[in-house]
Amino acid sequence: MADATRTTATAEPPATTDPAQDAVPVRRPALSPSRASDFKQCPLLYRFRAVDRLPEVPTKAQVRGTLVHSVLERLFALPREQRLPERAKELLEPVWTELASDCPEWTDLFEGDDDGEVESWLRSAGELVDAYFGLEDPRRLEPEACELHVETELSSGVLLRGYIDRLDVAPTGEIRVVDYKTGAAPRQIGEAKAMFQMKFYAVVLWRLRGVVPRQLKLMYLTDGQALAYTPDEAELVRFERTLEAIWQAILKAGRTGDFRPNPSKLCGWCSHQARCPSFGGTPPEYPGWPEPDPGEESVLDRAD
Ligand code: SF4
Repeated sequence: MADATRTTATAEPPATTDPAQDAVPVRRPALSPSRASDFKQCPLLYRFRAVDRLPEVPTKAQVRGTLVHSVLERLFALPREQRLPERAKELLEPVWTELASDCPEWTDLFEGDDDGEVESWLRSAGELVDAYFGLEDPRRLEPEACELHVETELSSGVLLRGYIDRLDVAPTGEIRVVDYKTGAAPRQIGEAKAMFQMKFYAVVLWRLRGVVPRQLKLMYLTDGQALAYTPDEAELVRFERTLEAIWQAILKAGRTGDFRPNPSKLCGWCSHQARCPSFGGTPPEYPGWPEPDPGEESVLDRAD
C-alpha cells in the first residue's frame, strides 16, 4: 500500500437546501457507524445521544484519543523524512493547545490538577504515539487521505455517513481502510464494535468507488497490536441489508418514541445510567424525532 499519491485531505460534508428555510443548508438524516452501533447496543442509548442529544462529559482517555488521532493526521502532512517518533511527540503539546482552544470545556477535566498531572497525561499520549511507530513506519506510506469524510446513499435510500481515520490506496488501486484505536475499554469488548465500524466504511467505499476494500486494518495503540481483515462482496451485500434494517428500526422507534433500554456489560461505559429505567432512572419526555440530522458523529466518536 506504499507510495500512493496523497490527493485528498478532509472533504467537506455536502449539504442539501431546504427552500422552506430560505436556502439555509440542511443535511439529510443519515446513519453513522457510531449511532448505528449505539442503536444495536441499546436503543435508549441511541435516543439519549441522537434524539435528546444529552451532553456527555468526556474522559481524559477520550480526549487523549482525540489528541493522538490529530497528531497522527498532522504527522502524515509532514514530509516523509520528518515522520519520526520524536517529531510526532513534539506535536502533542501544540495540538493539545489548539484542541483546548476549540473545546475549552475539555480543560475542565484538569481543573485542580497540578502541571505534573497534565504532563503525565501528555506523556501517556506520547506512549500511544510510540506504540503507533512500533506497528508501522509512516515514512514508507503516503495515504490518500486522513480524517476523510465519506457519504453515500444506498439504493434503498439510506444515507450513510462517517469519517475514516486513514485511507491508503496502492498504485494498483487496492484500498486499505485504517482505524486507530486508543480507547481505555478492554479490547475484547470493543472488537465487535470496531469491526462493525470498519465494515460500515467498507460498504460506503465500495458503493462510492466500485471497489471492495482489500483490507480493513485496526491499530490498537494501547497494546501495540494490529488486526487486519479482508471483506468480500457477498459479506458487504449482507452487511448493507443489516444497515438498512437498523435504519428502518431507528425510524420506527423515532416515530413512536419507543426506544427500549438493553442492559449489558457495556452499561459500565454509559453516561446516562441516572436516566435509564434499567438503573431506576426516568428518561426525559420524548422530544420527537430530530430533523434533520440524528446521524452526526462527534469529534470524540471519531477518536475512540
Ligand atoms: S445504562 Fe445501559 S441500558 Fe441504560 S441507556 Fe445506558 S446502555 Fe442503555
